[in-house]
Amino acid sequence: MPTDKPFDPDLLDLEAHMRHIVEEIERSGDDETVGVAETPAVGERAGGSQGIEHAVRDILTEIGEDPHREGLLGTPERMHRMWLELTCGYQVDPDRLINGAVFDVGYSEMVVIKGIPFYSLCEHHMLPFFGTASVGYLPRGRVIGLSKIPRVVEMYARRLQVQERMTQQIADFLQERLNPYGVGVVIEAEHLCLAMRGVQKGGATMVTSSVLGTFRSTKETRDEFMAHLERAIPRV
Ligand SMILES: [Zn+2]
Repeated sequence: MPTDKPFDPDLLDLEAHMRHIVEEIERSGDDETVGVAETPAVGERAGGSQGIEHAVRDILTEIGEDPHREGLLGTPERMHRMWLELTCGYQVDPDRLINGAVFDVGYSEMVVIKGIPFYSLCEHHMLPFFGTASVGYLPRGRVIGLSKIPRVVEMYARRLQVQERMTQQIADFLQERLNPYGVGVVIEAEHLCLAMRGVQKGGATMVTSSVLGTFRSTKETRDEFMAHLERAIPRV
């Protein structure tokens, strides 16, 4: 049952909490979810064991900490919950995500959504990288509900990632599901594994892009997309 009450994760058991987050990504608030099957219990899909707790206690011991001191007593359980949340993109069902939100229309001008914020984890260090994603496509008679594109980004961000692959996955997903004339995705992100480790290089931004179809083959299309990204968002 939908509720507008503030969501307090600590009041729910982990499985219900995870199901809530996955459904948040799969379903936009404005969706009519018609004919959606019962969600499988997330606990059955991932993370039902105490393995993460054990591993976190081992890590704490290995770095010279005492997992039994008061401040750390709840840490393994918190990290178990947190890791499942931060990687819940693996549990998101792409069919449920776009369910009922792809429309046949005559519109054939470029659609651009820019500055979609995201948080992900680099798979090399499991440290955050975060920034914004901008997505454009040139419809071939089919469009996707605007609220869905940030959810596609979220589905791929909430996994262990490398920025290049995440960029490609978002582009491939839209190309496959919408069959547009072309797709462009640009991601700008800061990586904490660069900022926090070794020589301090905080503030450096990595930019990756993936262009498919006419975004790759036609300079005018690519230029139009890039011009949209450079334009400031108008203030209303
Ligand atoms: Zn890294």
